[in-house]
Amino acid sequence: MIEVLRIGERLVRDDRVTTHAALVARAFGARRIFMDEADAGIRDTVERIGRDWGGEFDVELVESWRPVLRSRTGSSAVVHLTMYGLDVGGVAGEIASCGRDLLVVIGAGKVPREVYDAADYNVAVGSQPHSEIAALAVLLDRVQGGRQFGARFAGARRSIVPSGRGKRVVEGDAAGGALAAPRDDPPEPAG
Ligand code: SAM
Repeated sequence: MIEVLRIGERLVRDDRVTTHAALVARAFGARRIFMDEADAGIRDTVERIGRDWGGEFDVELVESWRPVLRSRTGSSAVVHLTMYGLDVGGVAGEIASCGRDLLVVIGAGKVPREVYDAADYNVAVGSQPHSEIAALAVLLDRVQGGRQFGARFAGARRSIVPSGRGKRVVEGDAAGGALAAPRDDPPEPAG
């Protein structure tokens, strides 16, 4: 199981970025996201998308990120995404095969030192500053070897039939999940 913890601490809240972090977590195979600086409207938006497009995904609004991190430390492998970390290409295979649940921590602004210390892996998606959304997507793709796109989103009210032209959408859970072929020789998925 993969969980995501988003740590806020931004002076100006950016609801769109927060919503997109949750949507990427959902679409890329995480089971839930914990967020400490998000309002209920963001959770409602993501839940509405979940009702339409299926799958099991929870948005948990938390007062503080610290109890979440403490509760997962030792049981889950804690993967903190930071530009100061080790190259994702060098550690993704080890994370994927560690056999533990994952807690992926992403920041919004400056991330406190204790997160770096608590993490089992401080991982960089390139050593340049960019975005927690991009970093999360790359990490989740690398550790699952693309398999997340073949996952079934059960209970969907509508599903997409992949098409090279236009939009093909069917009612219900018709696609059943075998949409994407796994890549050649992907690393083993975690957990
Ligand atoms: N200087 C900030 C810091 O302390 O890391 C950058 C904050 S950045 C706007 C927000 C988040 O994006 C970071 O906390 C991290 O999770 C993620 N991020 C940005 N660039 C990254 C990179 N190159 N590799 C991994 N994660 C990155």
